[in-house]
Amino acid sequence: MKIALVSEHASPLAALGGVDAGGQNVHVAELARSLAALGHSITVYTRRDDADGPDTVTTEAGYRVTRVAAGPAEPIPKDDLLPYMDEFREVLAQVWREDRPDVVHAHFWMSGLASRSAARAVGLPYVITFHALGEVKRRHQGSADTSPPDRIEIERDLACGAARVVATCSDEAFELTRMGVEPSRISVVPCGVDLDTFTASGPAFARSTEGRCRVVTVGRMVRRKGFATVIEALPDMPDVELVLVGGPQAGNFDSDPEVERLSSTARRLGVRDRVRMIGQVSRADMPALLRSADVVVCAPWYEPFGIVPLEAMACGIPVVASAVGGLLDTVVDGRTGALVPPRDSSKIASAVNRISRDDQLRKTYSINALERSLRYSWDRIAKDTVRAYSRIDRTATDSSVAGTR
Ligand code: UDP
Repeated sequence: MKIALVSEHASPLAALGGVDAGGQNVHVAELARSLAALGHSITVYTRRDDADGPDTVTTEAGYRVTRVAAGPAEPIPKDDLLPYMDEFREVLAQVWREDRPDVVHAHFWMSGLASRSAARAVGLPYVITFHALGEVKRRHQGSADTSPPDRIEIERDLACGAARVVATCSDEAFELTRMGVEPSRISVVPCGVDLDTFTASGPAFARSTEGRCRVVTVGRMVRRKGFATVIEALPDMPDVELVLVGGPQAGNFDSDPEVERLSSTARRLGVRDRVRMIGQVSRADMPALLRSADVVVCAPWYEPFGIVPLEAMACGIPVVASAVGGLLDTVVDGRTGALVPPRDSSKIASAVNRISRDDQLRKTYSINALERSLRYSWDRIAKDTVRAYSRIDRTATDSSVAGTR
C-alpha cells in the first residue's frame, strides 16, 4: 500500500524532549519505519520548520519525509499553527492529485483538518489518530489550555467524519464514543516500543551518589507531566535521588521558567540537593539512562498514551504511574509497578519506598515489566494498524464539512 502519514508539527526527524516534541514524533517515526519494513511505501508529511535542506528526504529506515511549506520556515508553537493549515492542505491536495496514496492517516487534529479536505479532493477517506484530545486537555488544564478555541468542536467533526479512528488506548476510545463516534469505527492500537533499543541488558549510566535509590522521570517539561508532584514526594522518600529528564536544550536551560519553577519548589522543600535536572537526552542515551533507575515514575495529570513507561518496562524497570489514560493499559498495578492517583505525591512516595526497599519485589516487577513490554513491538503495532486500514469504510468521505475552516 502507498500510505501517507500526515503529522504537521511532530516530525520524525526532530530532537525530542522540547515542549512540542515527544511521543507523537516517536510514534510517527516508528510506525513509518515498521510499515516500510512490512513492504509498504510510506511518506510522512510534516511542516517545514527550518529553511535548510531538501523538501523530501529518504530516511535510512526506508520511508520518505516531505517537509511542506506552510507558514514561516521556523519553529512555531503547535497551538499557533492553525492559520497555516490551509496552505498545508493545498500542498497535500496538489501532491496527492499527482501521486494518489491508498491510505491517508492523519496524526493530531490539525493534520486531520488539512488531510480531510486534501483527501476529499482526490476522493479518499481519511483515518485519524488524535494523540491528544482537546476535550480532555480542557478538562485538566482549564484556562491554562492554549489550544485554539474551536479545537474541541473541530475534533468532534473530524472524529465523526473519519473512515476510521485509531485510538491509542481504551480510555481514549471511551472519550471518542462520548464525542459521538460510532464504536464500530474505532480501532484501539497502542503505541509501541523499540525492543531492539530498549533492552534490559546493556550499559547503565553511573549514579552520582552511591547507596541512594535512583528515581528517573522523563518527559517534555510541561506542567501536566507532573514533575512538580514527583519533587513534592521527595521529603517522604529520604533515600531517593531524583533525575529529571527533558526540557529545553543546553544553553537555554537555566533561563527556562519551568526549570526555575521546579528548582524553587525543590528549594522550598529542602530537597534541591537530591534533584538533578539533566535536560534533553538523546534517543541513543535513553536506554542507559533508564537502566540506571531503580524505579521510573510517570506522574502526569493526564496522558493520552505515554511511551516512557513502556521504554522503562522494556529495560526491566518497574514503573510507578498515575492511573490515567494509556498508563491504565500498560502498567499493571501490583505486577509491573504501581498505579497511583494523579497529583498525589504521598501515594507516589509510598509506592516508590515499597518497591525500592524490597529487592525481591523489585526483581519480580522487573521481570513482569519486561515480559509485558514484549507485546508492544512496533512490528505488531504496524500489523494492527494495517488491519485497521483494511477495515476502512470507503463510503465515509465526510461530505458534511467543507474546506478546512
Ligand atoms: N524523550 C527523549 N529525550 C528527552 C525526553 C523525552 O528521547 O529528553 C522521548 C522519550 O524517551 C519518549 C518520548 O520522548 O520516547 C516521550 O513520549 P511520551 O509518550 O512519554 O510523552 P509525550 O511527549 O508524547 O507527552
